[in-house]
Amino acid sequence: CGIVGYIGSQQASDIVIEGLRKLEYRGYDSAGIAALDAGRIALRRAEGKLVNLETLLRQQPVPGCVGIGHTRWATHGRPSETNAHPHQAGVIVVVHNGIIENYLELKERLIGLGHNFRSETDTEIIAHLIEQHFNDSGDFEAAVRAALSEVHGAYAVAVLCEAEPDKLIAAKLGSPLVVGQGQGEYFVASDIPAMLSHTREMVFLEDGELVVFNRSSMQVSTLAGTPLQKTPKTITWSP
Ligand code: GLU
Repeated sequence: CGIVGYIGSQQASDIVIEGLRKLEYRGYDSAGIAALDAGRIALRRAEGKLVNLETLLRQQPVPGCVGIGHTRWATHGRPSETNAHPHQAGVIVVVHNGIIENYLELKERLIGLGHNFRSETDTEIIAHLIEQHFNDSGDFEAAVRAALSEVHGAYAVAVLCEAEPDKLIAAKLGSPLVVGQGQGEYFVASDIPAMLSHTREMVFLEDGELVVFNRSSMQVSTLAGTPLQKTPKTITWSP
């Protein structure tokens, strides 16, 4: 299972797929990608190996310079295209590694608020919970913080919002996530090799930290919003 995110000026899908291939060693049963172009999210998912997703992308490309991708190791819901990530709820799209322990309770609450669920995953509640908070506040970053403070379990997540298309948000608690700093571009991934052909400057996120990327800047903070100064480390080894 793995996550790759990209924001910059290159085509996100190429970088995301290349990164996911470097994470294949972690194991997976399905894969998917979402990219943002002209304020619209396009999403492609496929069961099985990455080559299936790549075949789909050749027929139906997803243009855009902001994107997130995922390889899934199913924990809740069988391996299938519908259960593959990313999961979308309205303007919000999410990829997630880990397990949300209180997802049933949250799902019931969200169904009561009128949300329609399409998958059997625990992950889909994250998308709907962020959407719910976004509908309440109109603030993408605040919505992600509010949603993540309500989930129990383990996660590495990367999130996009159609209404704020120049932003990528990622966070972790108990699952790995590393940031790669390029020149005018940023990467985020479950492990260093996914980004190493693009940059050697890495920022290591700790549990309970969240990072907001714009095209030209990034800010790490605690989930509660306290800004943190993180020093990048230069990776000197090669895989
Ligand atoms: N629990 C999530 C699911 O089953 C994420 C699994 C993963 O880490 O890939 O969809």
